[in-house]
Amino acid sequence: MTIFDSEIQRRRTFAIISHPDAGKTTLTEKLLWFGGAIQVAGEVRARKASRHATSDWMELEKQRGISVTSSVMQFPYREHIINLLDTPGHEDFSEDTYRTLTAVDSAVMVIDSVNGVEAQTIKLLNVCRMRDTPIITFINKLDREGRPPIELLDEIESVLGMQCAPMTWPISMGKRFRGVYHLYDDTVLVFDPHADKGTSEIIKGLDNPRLDEFIGRDQSEELRMEVELVRGASHTFDSTAYHAGKQTPVLFGSAVNNFGVQMMLDAIVDLSPPPQPRATETRLVQPSEPKFSGFVFKIQANMDPKHRDRIAFLRVCSGRFDRGMKIKQVSSGKFMAVNNAITFMAQDRNTADEAYAGDIIGIPNHGTIRLGDTFSETENLKFTGIPSFAPEFFRKARIKNPLKMKQLQKGLQQLAEEGATQLFRPISSNDLILGAVGTLQFDVVAHRLEFEYGVDVLFEGCEYATARWLRGSEADLKQLVDKYGFNVALDGANQYVYLAPNRVNLTMTQERFPDVRFLETREIY
Ligand code: GDP
Repeated sequence: MTIFDSEIQRRRTFAIISHPDAGKTTLTEKLLWFGGAIQVAGEVRARKASRHATSDWMELEKQRGISVTSSVMQFPYREHIINLLDTPGHEDFSEDTYRTLTAVDSAVMVIDSVNGVEAQTIKLLNVCRMRDTPIITFINKLDREGRPPIELLDEIESVLGMQCAPMTWPISMGKRFRGVYHLYDDTVLVFDPHADKGTSEIIKGLDNPRLDEFIGRDQSEELRMEVELVRGASHTFDSTAYHAGKQTPVLFGSAVNNFGVQMMLDAIVDLSPPPQPRATETRLVQPSEPKFSGFVFKIQANMDPKHRDRIAFLRVCSGRFDRGMKIKQVSSGKFMAVNNAITFMAQDRNTADEAYAGDIIGIPNHGTIRLGDTFSETENLKFTGIPSFAPEFFRKARIKNPLKMKQLQKGLQQLAEEGATQLFRPISSNDLILGAVGTLQFDVVAHRLEFEYGVDVLFEGCEYATARWLRGSEADLKQLVDKYGFNVALDGANQYVYLAPNRVNLTMTQERFPDVRFLETREIY
């Protein structure tokens, strides 16, 4: 293997998905700590807070105690380079959360052992399913009296439609929680809440008498019986099924107690795939191709609101990025010399010297780079699969001072380009309708309009419940627009969107126009 190939093979790029409060932040922190990327668990939270103190609109997210924007953390572990992409996990998440999942090769799903599969887990999993992203499951909070593990696995199988392959099995839970048995290594990891890294003893072999000594005869017998049952009744790990997104390996632990974290990190390195090929409109791009290529999955406004510069987050798909190299923005055909790209080593933001497939680089710009943009060394490629998602919340924008209409339109357009919210202009009125997948985005937009564009805006509720992009023949679309024009709008790219007041209305309209497709996601461009 060449050095170039081994750089690709040693990379793992993943995100953690979960319902709020399942323990994503805690697990992220512990993964960084076990990976040696931070010295004290707790730094991530603290650093997030201090970094945000520099910006007004981010002050808002600090006040709300949540993170609105995703970030990227890179750290070395066991000869590998791990890229962990953070996805905002609060109820009020944004499209960035969804789109980040298009930039990873695998995901870790955190399930709270008390609550099981929750609403947001289902939403995020559906996004992973669009690309059959492989998922490792971490069942967290085993130190609490949760639901029986078998029941949790059943729920994952039936609700999320994936086979479960337990890699470890818990020894009771709650007050009686004593650790996990690794079904493939035949070792028991004993849980010790006082030990530095969650465990003080690893016992080899289920029949080892030391196990009876450590956890008592009753619990060890119980474990042996359960393991026999589990081995008979559950799926064995199948790497092909996991890589196809059909099966999820399951690990148990307690993130806050550091327990099961090391196993998780090892599972990411040992089981999850290295950077994968990516589809473009014309062909599949292999990570090992020598020429550089990548796509932009996220745009973030810079920390300083006075300068309207932005950072474009680009996922490298092939080749090698070297600082200062000239890369082509395919949509404009222009070459840019990228001298000031940023990488995201967990310690600090570093200036990127080189990056390979799987890595993320941040490119500062003044609004010239758009979401979904492809960059390449020479070829005119266009990566596909970076979608916009149908908003679930809608607001009508109104300004207090009508003379500021121009600024409002400009601000809304620019914020929509960043992907914070979507902007719809109904064809039968002059209204400006904003759509988002989480309601917090409206607060963010109002705040930024005020501070960055000097516009005081009011958001009113409006009657829409959901949106669908319309695809069909010109004649069919015209007929639909003639009949239901009051529910049709143009989006930022001047494409027709149906804004439905409720599901019944949507279904009825769909039935009336069977030849028109109503899409829940739209590819950018
Ligand atoms: P997030 O919203 O998914 O990022 O969740 P957090 O990581 O912020 O965790 C939510 C709450 O669950 C916090 O109070 C954590 O301390 C707690 N928590 C995380 N992991 C565990 C665990 O293993 N056991 C228990 N009992 N609590 C946990």
